[in-house]
Amino acid sequence: MIRKLLVATVGTALMSGACATTPTAQEGSSTAQQGSSTPAQEDTHPMPASPPAPTAQVENPLLARWTGPHGGVPAFDKVKVEHFKPALEAAMEQNRREIATIADSPAAPTFENTIAAMEGTARTYGDVRTFFGIWSSTMNGPEFQAIEREMAPRLAAFADEITQNEKLFRRIEAVYSSPEKAKLTAEQQRLTWVRYTDFVRAGAKLDTAAKKRMGEINQRLASLYTSFSQNVLADEEQYAVILEAETDLAGLPESVRAGAAAAAEARGQKGKWAITNTRSSMEPFLTYSSRRDLREKVWRNYVNRGDNGDARDNNVIISEVLKLRAERAKLLGYATHAHWRLENTMAKSPERAMSLMEAVWTPAVARVREEVADMQAIANKEGAKFKVAPWDYRYYSEKVRKAKYDLDQNEVKPYLQLDKLREGMFWVAGELFGFLFEPVEGVPVYHPDVRVWEVKDKASGRHIGLWYFDPYARQGKRSGAWMNAYRRQERFNGEVTTIVSNNSNFVKGKPGEPVLISWEDAETLFHEFGHALHGLNSQVTYPTLSGTAVARDYVEFPSQLLEHWLPTPEVLNRFALHHQTGKPVPPDLLARINKAATFNQGFATVEYLASALVDMKLHLAGDQKIDADVFERDTLKSLGMPEEIVMRHRTPQFGHVFAGDGYSAGYYSYLWSDTLTADAYEAFTEGKGAYDRTVADRLRKSVFSVGNTVDPAEGYRSFRGKDAGIDALMRKRGFPVPKKAK
Ligand SMILES: [Zn+2]
Repeated sequence: MIRKLLVATVGTALMSGACATTPTAQEGSSTAQQGSSTPAQEDTHPMPASPPAPTAQVENPLLARWTGPHGGVPAFDKVKVEHFKPALEAAMEQNRREIATIADSPAAPTFENTIAAMEGTARTYGDVRTFFGIWSSTMNGPEFQAIEREMAPRLAAFADEITQNEKLFRRIEAVYSSPEKAKLTAEQQRLTWVRYTDFVRAGAKLDTAAKKRMGEINQRLASLYTSFSQNVLADEEQYAVILEAETDLAGLPESVRAGAAAAAEARGQKGKWAITNTRSSMEPFLTYSSRRDLREKVWRNYVNRGDNGDARDNNVIISEVLKLRAERAKLLGYATHAHWRLENTMAKSPERAMSLMEAVWTPAVARVREEVADMQAIANKEGAKFKVAPWDYRYYSEKVRKAKYDLDQNEVKPYLQLDKLREGMFWVAGELFGFLFEPVEGVPVYHPDVRVWEVKDKASGRHIGLWYFDPYARQGKRSGAWMNAYRRQERFNGEVTTIVSNNSNFVKGKPGEPVLISWEDAETLFHEFGHALHGLNSQVTYPTLSGTAVARDYVEFPSQLLEHWLPTPEVLNRFALHHQTGKPVPPDLLARINKAATFNQGFATVEYLASALVDMKLHLAGDQKIDADVFERDTLKSLGMPEEIVMRHRTPQFGHVFAGDGYSAGYYSYLWSDTLTADAYEAFTEGKGAYDRTVADRLRKSVFSVGNTVDPAEGYRSFRGKDAGIDALMRKRGFPVPKKAK
């Protein structure tokens, strides 16, 4: 499945979307991170937790040391929006002094006094950025947005100030180039390489004039990213289709009606129904509404976000972003922004990413033709006098699902209780990794919806970490789902355990009633939990290399992999229980769910890949002036995009790509990771099945526990004994396996 989820790193805001589209991602320089909040995680290097706070600032809770057992917890209950600016300023100042101490040291540069010493810096700054990211993505509002607009370019400038510190870079370079490096441990050598390449990639080797220009570009980009995401958010909040009469609700199930009624009431239109301009509102409406005219209206609002020719139109912003990115890549000595972005990924080059996408594109489009033919046949039989259009796709595909597989999504939903499935995930984590989850009370949270669990080792009772869960949609919280690490596991200066969170946007039920979610939402729940388990399993020394701080096109592998445990009979029989009868999914329904596993994969793959291909081509285009609308139209035409589908994220609303650098030239990552996912799950099915302990142990040892201490391709090989080819991916999606696939 293609996800829109993101994993956020410390100090950054992430996006949500089909795996990413929300707040902003950060570009990470090793020490300071810049960025606004965005979708998607950046493979940035986090800063670890709490240093002592300067006494003068102690009254600011963002600067205070975290207190409590196991290294303490964030004092979320004390945070106010007015704390952010002074805390960021004080933390930057403190980090500046820490860096100066290392850079100005009279001692000859060594791993310990330079590379390792940097691991001890930016602790307060990292904490403040963590709070900043959480507020940006879950507690946002006009007052906070003003601070984001002001601080985004300043944080970008601060990141450049550190990577452009010549004395510091000369020390890093000296350690990197020294023959002594060969005597370091493998993890230390990897850390040295990461620091060095991060600095070089951020422009540490440029001359003074070029560095100055880099700084200007990065600050301007930070402002443009903030405007881009605030524009999309405004278009999501301001457009809604108001339904006035019962006849407008034709076809909608009770749950969709109730949600629309609540949305209308929240907009002061009690007694009516509102279809808001977000994915979670749009998708069920297009799936169930039999009012074709209204489907078209809802669809048009949604696909035109950021593209309405008004003050919030993003097209001019996009042209400028692309121009600045192309200029920056040139300054750094790369052919294009895509070449720069992909250098340290698993794919390594845009060409390799493109060839994977192209290999999947052709069979996916062929599958769409079959899906459309099936839908058109049903529409014709019902007497429709039209060709299936993009606003018809979800509606008729539901009818095909019923006709072909006798499967109705509304038949499945009563078995999918959020609380029970959460227990199911915990059980899976116990089987695969020996974890035990226990609820804890009294830990401060930023919103009453948030709950906290302690994670322990089942066998020894050892404390592993904390897991925060923020499940419900609310005003000021970006849409989608994501994972975040509030603190990373490390052993740099004593054992530090991790704190991770999962965030989603389920619609809260009435008090006392169970929250029922869709099958796709249940997959998302497992997906984000996979990111959390990646963080919780971490066993590394240096925080920069910890947990999910891995290459962008590798980070979705553990999360997509976890999705595979949802449909296992062990989970469904024990945890997918009917909310009224308490009975598990009947075997006959389970069989139909499994039989329909690859249903609609043409649509899912094409809507995702169209976005990924346009993203890559935009960033391979070099410094030509780009009109986003024209480029998108021409590119899709040349790809042979089926006219019944639109991109999952059209360019003017593509937060993964334009609300930060995070997933720019990187939306392909979900497909790249999914080749690993599909192949890795076959290691279980080739063995004793989904709960094969031997395979799970190997997975933990080579993948989930190592963070970025080893090259991902090597880590994967040591798990699987071979590289992942494309075959398993094609099987997973139900596409023909190429004859000589590699
Ligand atoms: Zn994800």
